[in-house]
Amino acid sequence: MPGRILVVDDISTNRMLLRAKLSASYYDVVEACDGEQALEIAAREDIDLVLLDVMMPGIDGFEVCRRLKNDPKTMHIPVVMVTALGDPQDRLLGLEAGADDFLSKPFDDLALFARASSLIRIKMMIDELRLRDETTRDLGFEQMMASIEGEGDPCTEILLVTTDDSTKEEMRATLRAATNCRVETCPDEASLRAMIANNDYDAFLLDDRKGGTDALRLCAVLRTQPETRQATILVLIDEERRDRANVALEIGANDFVVRPVDPAELTARMRSQLRRKRFSDRLRANMRDSMVMAVTDHMTGVYNRRYATTHLGSLITRCQGSGEPLAAMILDLDRFKSVNDTWGHAAGDMVIKEFAQRLVQNCRPADLVARMGGEEFLVVMPNVSAAQASEAAERIRRSVAAPAFVISEDGRELAVTVSIGLAMLLPGENADAVIHRADMALYDSKHEGRNRVTLDAA
Ligand code: GH3
Ligand code: MG
Ligand code: MG
Repeated sequence: MPGRILVVDDISTNRMLLRAKLSASYYDVVEACDGEQALEIAAREDIDLVLLDVMMPGIDGFEVCRRLKNDPKTMHIPVVMVTALGDPQDRLLGLEAGADDFLSKPFDDLALFARASSLIRIKMMIDELRLRDETTRDLGFEQMMASIEGEGDPCTEILLVTTDDSTKEEMRATLRAATNCRVETCPDEASLRAMIANNDYDAFLLDDRKGGTDALRLCAVLRTQPETRQATILVLIDEERRDRANVALEIGANDFVVRPVDPAELTARMRSQLRRKRFSDRLRANMRDSMVMAVTDHMTGVYNRRYATTHLGSLITRCQGSGEPLAAMILDLDRFKSVNDTWGHAAGDMVIKEFAQRLVQNCRPADLVARMGGEEFLVVMPNVSAAQASEAAERIRRSVAAPAFVISEDGRELAVTVSIGLAMLLPGENADAVIHRADMALYDSKHEGRNRVTLDAA
């Protein structure tokens, strides 16, 4: 998953050190030697994470962070402030400026990589949602993102899991004083499971304690439950068990705080995580509300043609920029007219619906499945090789050929086949061109006898 990291530091040996560490883990590193240059690069290039030195001549790190977080174009990029060791004041200022995290020099490599990968993972998810959001805007559904920052802190429901009474009181008091929230508590996994089944929590604070609650296990539980998959998770860790923090982040915690807890740090981290959650919740909700109706094919539930061609355009722009491969396939049912002619239009509709379902079942969530019209569909697979795409197309073809389709209430069955044309995106090519080549390949599949996959030779 590595991504592109912008390293901002006025001292070149610091930049080189980070570049060496990060490149060794396959991250793509971009350097900036001051705040101005950092802002300019972040606005222009596709950056997944910023590692930002605090002390710099000119605009300092806090101000750079503030500007990044206030610009709608860059506010979604995670920022990690790099501070001198053990300067709590700096950490706090950074978090208040909107930083997502901080690291101390000299670097603890494990912390660096754990945090980088967890932040980049979230960023990539938000990217995907933003891309879809842009697509809906392109389609004319405006009034999207009202300023989330301008709304103030809405009331949040926080569940604290701990066996320790003094932690319970301390955390309740801290959180209540600083954020508009309701805090409930529970002592163990069984009660946690019961409480998430009946409540809708925004955030979880998990106490990790020798002989007490195992926050790593609880974190894994929360991430595997659909109700809490998107929730914010913070973990409280003992200083002498600090290494568990890295594991917690890998399992899916959003952040951690080391005991003894600095109340200001805890609330700043909680607030910053909740802000991020609202951002992605909003994107998700926008997508649900305004898109679903307008971009869906009503008969099959997959995307419609209009959405597909617009979204394909966005995907292609992204792939042409990053060089990542993309496959497009056009699929058309064989001799479909005779299904209508022989069994009637209603039976034909049942076949189309069932075909769409089999398609979706044989694609990944990241793939785009759309009905282009009649019994013709488009599938776009980002980030697959020609061999993988051919294999996927072949899997789809087989899934249609058998088992037979049911075309009436009383279970009458019909053999259906599909022909597929496949094209890999070429450098510089646009949506129309790649679809045209997939169409030509489909024509070959039909011509060669149907029920087959043809990969365009280009
Ligand atoms: P080929 O193997 O060459 O694709 O032959 P075909 O019979 O499938 O030919 P073609 O793709 O041209 O035929 C498409 C038919 O699909 C024509 C049209 O009546 C029918 N059709 C289009 N939309 C719908 C629909 O929503 N429901 C039903 N039942 N039929 C549809
Ligand atoms: Mg057909
Ligand atoms: Mg057709």
